[in-house]
Amino acid sequence: MAQTTYESLLGAVTNAAGREILDPATGEIVGRVADRSVADLDEAVRRARDAQPGWAGRSDAERIQLLLAAADAVEAAAEPLAELLSREQGKPLNGPNARFEVGACAAWLRATAATELPGGTVVDDGEVHAELHYRPVGVVGAIGPWNWPMMITTWQVAPSLRMGNAVVVKPSEHTPLSVLALAEVLNTVLPAGVLSVVAGGRDLGERMSTHPDIDKLMFTGSTATGQAIIRSSADTVKRLTLELGGNDAGIVLPDVDPRAIAEGLFWGAFINTGQTCAALKRLYVHADVYDEVCDALVDVARAMPMGRGLDEENVLGPLQNKAQYDVVARLVDAARHSGAKILLGGDPDPSAAGHFYPTTLVADIDNDNPLVAEEQFGPALPIVRYQALDDVISMANGVEVGLGASVWSSDRDTARAVAARLQAGTVWINAHGAVHPMVPFGGVKKSGYGLEFGIEGLKAVSVPQVING
Ligand code: NAD
Repeated sequence: MAQTTYESLLGAVTNAAGREILDPATGEIVGRVADRSVADLDEAVRRARDAQPGWAGRSDAERIQLLLAAADAVEAAAEPLAELLSREQGKPLNGPNARFEVGACAAWLRATAATELPGGTVVDDGEVHAELHYRPVGVVGAIGPWNWPMMITTWQVAPSLRMGNAVVVKPSEHTPLSVLALAEVLNTVLPAGVLSVVAGGRDLGERMSTHPDIDKLMFTGSTATGQAIIRSSADTVKRLTLELGGNDAGIVLPDVDPRAIAEGLFWGAFINTGQTCAALKRLYVHADVYDEVCDALVDVARAMPMGRGLDEENVLGPLQNKAQYDVVARLVDAARHSGAKILLGGDPDPSAAGHFYPTTLVADIDNDNPLVAEEQFGPALPIVRYQALDDVISMANGVEVGLGASVWSSDRDTARAVAARLQAGTVWINAHGAVHPMVPFGGVKKSGYGLEFGIEGLKAVSVPQVING
């Protein structure tokens, strides 16, 4: 097979007559996407429906081998994939960004290939013999966001394929080329029809959530869209996994060494320039260490270069789109007008070509300020001072969402006791946002329901069947 280059990859997914996709760092055209119609979507679902029984009928060993081959294919095309991702999404090649994301795609494919979901006997007492088996759901629809487009698509696709489902993916309208390119690479090894990508707008997502031939929807995106999907999927009783928005709290206890935790706090909040579902979005710091933590964070943040993703020195990039830039700018302005103290940033360059918002740290801010209460999804972190543990726990739990949270302490038992009181799907200790392919991940409250990754993730893309007798 000829070696994949950036040009060959882009050439395979771009369409001369399609909609322009602009580089968020420069405003230049990256490529053009052909947005598909609802009829095209229906055709992709029909092809998936036709291909699925043959895929499910293959042996487990064959599906494992094909997922491993898919991981090899991603690794062989890693550099062009990362370049396209960087140009379209804006994230830098370096840092926990584009190369990291492509690496995670391969890692998740491999880990999913290696994970078994065993069925087995549940009762065998001489009178009853009952076995529980996990069958494929059928056709899985995957709808994704624009922040980690390749990685989240892999999270949806790999377990679905592993369990014998066919998958139809609808990427975000902001980052379709990245997902089309990933699928292009995966489809060099997968059999025809089991994985297809249909680029387009919300009309396609709406059709997927009512489609009679889609059995399960994996959705990652905003809470509002998740709620719309719940409503419109009711008639078909579609299975749903909903990974929705978050507003993760981080709680810093008074026993920390501020300098030792500052870099972990920084990346917890600013990974992917803050455009991460389970990023640290509200930082609560005990009054005893408040000033020291703020100073240490400013020092770390100042040293992190932001700029065009293709420039090797950068580790922070632009906001992916203007709408998200406007959200961040509005929230920081509201914080400033309320009298909060801008420690760093908050002063975007109006002449910049791209959607760059500088790394921003905001101190002396009240818990009810919009920058704290709403999901900013960008490079602006509010730092709230607290005195009493009960108060900070009620502030952390006082939002409608519950994706992640973190506790920072030099005493693990103390931190674990605090963690147990937090309403979040994951609570990290002395870290934030670190995901692992074998560790279940999902939200509580309005951050959604259903788990991804590991054995729980395989269960989510299968249907249980009991054989009794
Ligand atoms: P979004 O909800 O606007 O869009 C997500 C996808 O849904 C897009 O593909 C869009 O076309 C589609 N869509 C829009 N309307 C639809 C409808 N009515 N029916 C079906 N599909 C529809 O989200 P976004 O702005 O792309 O992503 C940012 C949000 O995603 C943030 O809130 C973030 O926290 C969340 N997110 C969550 C996770 C997680 O794992 N929990 C991960 C990443 C992002």
